[in-house]
Amino acid sequence: MSKRISLLGSTGSIGRQTLDVMDACGMEVAAITANSSVDALEEQARRYGPELAVLMDEKAADDLKVRLADTSVKVLAGMDGLLEAAALPSADTVLTAVVGMVGLRPTMAAIREGKRIALANKETLVCGGELVMEEAHDFGAEILPVDSEHSALFQSLQGNRDRGEVKRLILTCSGGPFFGKTTEELQHVTREDALHNPNWSMGAKITVDSASLMNKGLEVIEAMHLYHMPAEKVSIVVHRESIIHSLVEYCDNAMIAQLGSADMRLPIQYALTWPRRVPGPAKELDLWNCGPLTFAHPDLDTFRCLKLALDAARTGGTAGAILNGANEAAVAQFLAGKIRFLEIADKVQRAMETVPVIQNPSLTQVLEADAAAREAAR
Ligand code: NAD
Ligand code: MG
Repeated sequence: MSKRISLLGSTGSIGRQTLDVMDACGMEVAAITANSSVDALEEQARRYGPELAVLMDEKAADDLKVRLADTSVKVLAGMDGLLEAAALPSADTVLTAVVGMVGLRPTMAAIREGKRIALANKETLVCGGELVMEEAHDFGAEILPVDSEHSALFQSLQGNRDRGEVKRLILTCSGGPFFGKTTEELQHVTREDALHNPNWSMGAKITVDSASLMNKGLEVIEAMHLYHMPAEKVSIVVHRESIIHSLVEYCDNAMIAQLGSADMRLPIQYALTWPRRVPGPAKELDLWNCGPLTFAHPDLDTFRCLKLALDAARTGGTAGAILNGANEAAVAQFLAGKIRFLEIADKVQRAMETVPVIQNPSLTQVLEADAAAREAAR
């Protein structure tokens, strides 16, 4: 069970919900980090009194340092600061809730210190999954999933892991706000339409990924790395109600699933308290009033991002980094109002067609593939 946590991305949706869980479970905050939100990070620093507060943005960090001059909180900036937060000796656990592959190097740094990694930052595994899992094995670092589907799989695998009895993993998918729409209808959707998710309230980037179903594709690759499964043993079922959070099918055809309300605080908490369970702030599931549960196939022709991600999953090597880098760049352009929704898939496809894939890449080669993919998507 975690006691003292470095929380990377503490001002975001996952970061704030993690602080809720930590409050409820009496866990200590060792470090907090954010991109540039000075006000939010100052407030958290005053409330939790961490050893270290880090802002990626240098100017914002200078500002924070002045503001926190009356406290004992150390303030750092940039990637060096993020790496220091990840490797902080007084923390037993690092919860990575930054958005994007910027989380890869801090995660590796935490692994090398043998910390428990509570991983929300899925882009890290999509880009550098092989490296991350290998290093975690070599340094004896536990990687515990925060993503709700992967937590559901983890919970459904308890007692049965690594016995070769799993037939396949089945990820549930809410379908997002554009479920049932045709390509023609998707021509005209706006940023606001994409930012409206029916079941989950999340950061902007993952909300757009949930609308394009790229999120589910990233999650397939995340699951392959976490549970050492080939692409053909990971399936997706559209389940609009978000009550079953994923399932494991075993060789005897038994399926084991985890159910719960759509509340990220449950998977966050399980990553921190595993192998124990304790009472926490997540909402109860009212089975008697949740209505019927439905299941369907995803529409790969309309949601091309998912199709592209499944191609990258089968290809392996740097294909994940290329897919992810192009998608991060394209989603940023979409959020800035510079491209239309369907152009996200166009850009990802172009990057996948033009950037060569390398198998068994080094960290440098992963970072280079990411940079080349972003360039191709521009
Ligand atoms: P968010 O946008 O709400 O928060 C992101 C956090 O990272 C903020 O604290 C922000 O300041 C920080 N950050 C942003 N850009 C940064 C950069 N370049 N360098 C350093 N820090 C930066 O995002 P979120 O919804 O909390 O998601 C965080 C991660 O968790 C993502 O990888 C996402 O895919 C994953 N995740 C989120 C949810 C969810 O329900 N929100 C569910 C599953 C997985
Ligand atoms: Mg998820």
